[in-house]
Amino acid sequence: MDAEIIAVGSELLTPQRLDTNSLFLTDKLNALGIEVRFKTVVGDDRERLASVLRAALGRSGLIVLTGGLGPTEDDVNRDVVAEVLARPLREVPEIRQQLEKRFARVGRTMSANNLRQALVPEGADWLENKNGTAPGLWIEQGETLIVLLPGPPWELEAMFESACLPRLAQRATGGRIVTRVLKVVGLPESEVDRRIAPIYREYRNPATTILATLGSIEIHLRARAASDAEAEALLAPLADKIEVALGDNIYSTKGESLEEIVGMFLMMKQKTMAAAESCTGGLLAERLTRTPGSSNYFLGGAICYSNELKTKLAGVPEVLIKENGAVSKPVAQAMAEGIRRRSGASIGIGVTGIAGPGGGSAEKPVGLVFIALADEHGTQVREFRFPGNRERVRLWASTAALEMIRRRVRD
Ligand code: ATP
Ligand code: MG
Repeated sequence: MDAEIIAVGSELLTPQRLDTNSLFLTDKLNALGIEVRFKTVVGDDRERLASVLRAALGRSGLIVLTGGLGPTEDDVNRDVVAEVLARPLREVPEIRQQLEKRFARVGRTMSANNLRQALVPEGADWLENKNGTAPGLWIEQGETLIVLLPGPPWELEAMFESACLPRLAQRATGGRIVTRVLKVVGLPESEVDRRIAPIYREYRNPATTILATLGSIEIHLRARAASDAEAEALLAPLADKIEVALGDNIYSTKGESLEEIVGMFLMMKQKTMAAAESCTGGLLAERLTRTPGSSNYFLGGAICYSNELKTKLAGVPEVLIKENGAVSKPVAQAMAEGIRRRSGASIGIGVTGIAGPGGGSAEKPVGLVFIALADEHGTQVREFRFPGNRERVRLWASTAALEMIRRRVRD
């Protein structure tokens, strides 16, 4: 059974909103061995939705529509599906009672248009919405299954898990698709591919995809088999060979982020850290504190953007800044050592650089960043030249700092 997703909502065609429901659905469907072959985003428009739906009916065994189930005039999915499938809408008393109860509970009177949500195409099943008012719909039309889910992600996800997954699992006979993600840092994409292409080219199942994100590369291995265990068995030999080829540049094989891995190592070694950040403006601290439990190893830090605060908060001697400039090796070193001393952390990090777009010179171009790591063994300072715009330079710098910590605490 191949699937198709139709995300309905005019807001999804603006620059302000992204269709994320289909990503969630694809992940869940893949786990059932169901491939998604088409995705469409279409506005709240009867004609256009009807034409998309007709095309889908001609080519897909499972059609999932998201959004457009609400009580307002612009929510047209229910109507259009009923019309295209030639199934008249009938009111379901049980849904009506549930709606009335829901409104009574919160002390509001129900307006008439809410009753639209109690309408169900003839012969269709409806799916309870535990997190909202609009029920979902489950329609079998010959060999084709059409599922309508609400737009708000928390409603859609809960409904899919509780009402759709069990029923789909019974029907899906295409086996399972299991994905393993290997994450790589410290190597350019071309070098990663040069090393592993001869390996993955030998395999068709698993299929390999390389995705470059900022400062990190992900290798996605996707295996298809009758069961999870068989898919895992297909993945293991390929994953092992790739791990050998890339060595310790692979930092994660179970989906963890670089900041999570760094946190894990710091916890294991019972180390703490603090950071003095200039050009990253707190981004390193922000990334580290994304992980719950980071208070176990991350003490805090200082955003010392101005020269004065580099001295005041991180104890960088004024003369050092005067003689070398704020973006320099000695200043990065002094920031790392200063924040370590003042915070009492086992590791101090100092980051100073030129994020751009202005402020660069021939001698110190945009993208020049110095990162220092101070611990009981001494201080290591590295010089980087990051490509790209301000946002990219800042992200690269925070990733490079995390990678320096990972390498130091791992050994
Ligand atoms: P409601 O009863 O809230 O009107 P609905 O089923 O009619 O629900 P929509 O009106 O289409 O759903 O969307 C409601 C909210 O869900 C909006 O904030 C919208 O941005 C969000 N949403 C809709 N579709 C998607 C999608 N495909 N991905 C992510 N968010 C979505
Ligand atoms: Mg709506």
